Amino acid sequence: MDPEIKILTSDVADKIAAGEVVERPASVVKELVENAIDAGAKKIDVEIKNGGIKLIRVADNGKGIPEEQVETAFLRHATSKLTNADDLFKIMTMGFRGEALSSICAVAKVSLITKTHEAEVGTLYTVDHGISGTKDEIACPQGTIMVIEDLFANVPARMKFLKRDGTEAGYISDLMIRLALSRPDIAFDYICDGKQVFNTSGDGDLKNVILKVYGLKFAKNLIDVDYLEDGLRVTGVIGKPEISFGNRTKQTLFVNGRYVKNHVVAKVAEEAFRNTMMVGKFPFFVLEIIIPAELVDVNVHPAKTEVKFANEKQLYDIVFHAMKNAMYNKISSSESNNSEIKSTVCIDLGIESNDIVPEPIQKKKDGYVQLSDYVTRVNPKIVDKYIEGTTPKVNQEILERYLDKPQDGLNKTNLSDIIIDFEPKTTDLAVNIYKSDGLDIKFNDKEINRDFEQTSFVPNAKEQIVNVSDNETKFFSNYRIIGQSFSTYVIVTQGDSMFMIDQHAAHERVRFEMLKKSYFAGERMSQLLIAPIIVDLTHVEYDAVMSNLIEFEKYGFLIEEFGTNTIIINETPILASDDEIKSLLIEIVEALIDNIKHPIANFEEKALDMISCKYAIKANDKLSIQEMTEIVNHVNELYEQGIKTCPHGRPFMVQYTKKEIEKMFKRIV
Ligand code: ADP
Ligand code: MG
Repeated sequence: MDPEIKILTSDVADKIAAGEVVERPASVVKELVENAIDAGAKKIDVEIKNGGIKLIRVADNGKGIPEEQVETAFLRHATSKLTNADDLFKIMTMGFRGEALSSICAVAKVSLITKTHEAEVGTLYTVDHGISGTKDEIACPQGTIMVIEDLFANVPARMKFLKRDGTEAGYISDLMIRLALSRPDIAFDYICDGKQVFNTSGDGDLKNVILKVYGLKFAKNLIDVDYLEDGLRVTGVIGKPEISFGNRTKQTLFVNGRYVKNHVVAKVAEEAFRNTMMVGKFPFFVLEIIIPAELVDVNVHPAKTEVKFANEKQLYDIVFHAMKNAMYNKISSSESNNSEIKSTVCIDLGIESNDIVPEPIQKKKDGYVQLSDYVTRVNPKIVDKYIEGTTPKVNQEILERYLDKPQDGLNKTNLSDIIIDFEPKTTDLAVNIYKSDGLDIKFNDKEINRDFEQTSFVPNAKEQIVNVSDNETKFFSNYRIIGQSFSTYVIVTQGDSMFMIDQHAAHERVRFEMLKKSYFAGERMSQLLIAPIIVDLTHVEYDAVMSNLIEFEKYGFLIEEFGTNTIIINETPILASDDEIKSLLIEIVEALIDNIKHPIANFEEKALDMISCKYAIKANDKLSIQEMTEIVNHVNELYEQGIKTCPHGRPFMVQYTKKEIEKMFKRIV
């Protein structure tokens, strides 16, 4: 017999509606915090226990709920934010459906403590899994405290769909980050299982929020965005290419203060960063689009995480322009000044060719651009108080001393006329000054050659013929090192062929094989640090490190706890500068965190690759003949094992036969 069609009891209907709004503990937090924001709160404290299943507590200092409206607030479609259907098309508040409280109280034990400014005493009201309890007077400050306990205790089906507590807590942490980013003017305090994850000051500065929730590395590498076109405003920050990621989880978009997911804007960002970021890497951004409320529909999704724009194409163009504009900003000002530049002094900042330099500023006039935000490596001798990620300030005193020297062929130059050589050139971090006419100037006892693309030849190449006749099986057994090109490729001839070896790729691969061998043999591959390194981490990073100490030890990092969200590194897998070790550690931590969300099969290899990459000779390192010989020996070792690429799969050597070269010269066809 077919079941009879019945009207659902309100209890069942409420549970169904609850399922739409309250999918998981994070949705409860979202609704409650949004209510607090709507209530004008300037301080919002959120505490959760056991992924929010046991407890969610949201306390705000907003306007509170009048005593006589407390029960009504918990009814379906009870809202103070909408009165007629027209209002739906110009929504300026976070909530408006009037569904959250009724949905939440249907599936949890809810206690509400609230007091308005006018009221003399506060109200305590409880609803236990849909059953209203008592209403009492209570002494409390202005604002609202919502305590949610035993979520989904009466909905076993939904309970089953929840992930483990840690995962649910992760969703909440992610949400809290977005909420904090969305409102730098509100002080957020977020506590998970008794531990403070972050707190923000509410001083209105987005960068301070980024510092608190993501850490210093992010806060230091931001480009401001503020762009207005056709009445639409795009504000916020984009990360410099230095902070790119393997996924899009660190991209945040707000539309009129509301966090939304929008794949097309993510694509626009990738387009804007094209050629400045490696394929497969995604940019960091926190952007807000401020758009007249009637041009955007926020009512397309129950959890309000998606929006529809009236004119999508126009909006995306504007976002693209906003990003490009931010990137170009400084260059355009240098372009407009170009005509007034009388004499040009160039300073080589030693940008490495593997440093990502945004495309628009790479090839400016004569290959020079003005000192800009993107400069990442500069010599402290000539640059005053250089802080990574900020615009370097040229040390006037030192520079002037150089400009005063008549033998340098330079007249005293107005410092504002100075142009910085931005072309990838050499790894020497020495600052090189030279005139634009190519006359070399000595600085730091280094001769500077004006040409960017140069090849250094091995003197007396004849003497460099190496015979390894005792081992003819080696790939290079009778070869000649011709020299090094662009400080990056070692050129070798043997027999009827000429070879170019990518020094970094070859060296990296050798190191990688070595590290892999000791890792899988269970050998510790670490170096004791004389001065241990202290590293401040974000809460998430700290957790990832502390719960993987043994794994880190296997990679050669001996790490200990060192106070709140701080660790101390006693041993490292490589000898490198403190900064390099720190950034290597953070790179591995980020990969670990990613790996928890999207596990990959050969994670160890990925981590080992990161280590070997840091350890290897860089592109743009000038090599001595001994070092070049070593590179050739590395190639031999790798070829013996049948290895022909770097760990990323790029070839480390290319070969031109004499025939191919003759064809190029049309000597033969
Ligand atoms: P909505 O937010 O869509 O209006 P809710 O069910 O989330 O619906 O909330 C119902 C009503 O309860 C709100 O319209 C608001 O008047 C009141 N309210 C809820 N939370 C708070 C709070 N933290 N402070 C003040 N008022 C609140
Ligand atoms: Mg609401």
